[in-house]
Amino acid sequence: MSSYSLPNSPIRDIKHCQECGRVTIHFLNPKNDVIVKPEIWDEIVRKGFNAMRRHMYIPRELLAEDPKFFKV
Ligand SMILES: [Zn+2]
Repeated sequence: MSSYSLPNSPIRDIKHCQECGRVTIHFLNPKNDVIVKPEIWDEIVRKGFNAMRRHMYIPRELLAEDPKFFKV
């Protein structure tokens, strides 16, 4: 699909354009700043969630054994 991948620089700010839906991503290093189309932005968000889920995944068996594990 897209070939854009986020640079290895922290995101400083994100602005959504109300008119065209494009998203401006401001990075700590402004050289990396980029404007992406809504489809690309959706993909970035989806990838981010998937990566987060992989890191946060706790097997069901573990939760069943120790329910307090996930009570916040
Ligand atoms: Zn716009």
